[in-house]
Amino acid sequence: MLTSEQTQELRAKLEADMARLGDHAHNALEFTMDRDRDRIGRDSMDESTEEEIYSTQLRLHDRENFLLQKVREAMIRLEAGKLDECEECAEPIGFKRLLARPVTTLCFECKSAREQVESETHAE
Ligand SMILES: [Zn+2]
Repeated sequence: MLTSEQTQELRAKLEADMARLGDHAHNALEFTMDRDRDRIGRDSMDESTEEEIYSTQLRLHDRENFLLQKVREAMIRLEAGKLDECEECAEPIGFKRLLARPVTTLCFECKSAREQVESETHAE
């Protein structure tokens, strides 16, 4: 169970993450709009280089949306008082672990066990 101070600290961290990710997504969108607007008459940049930058931006955007969703879910769990509850074993997740990675849904033991399984599956 998290104390109210811990909850507050995690909320501030999640809000900061959300603002940061939101800003990035916004920039990616502006880049897309600029690109469309400047499309005619631009010859200073090589077309393939431009495509490369564009697809990198889109991938970044997808990843940021994914992370943003994770942060939003963590925020909901935080408000419900369940952020420190492991989704696998329902044991509390350590505050230090949550502070380092507030979007985590697994305690250290379950995460380690899952990574073990994943790496074993990968090796086959
Ligand atoms: Zn667990």
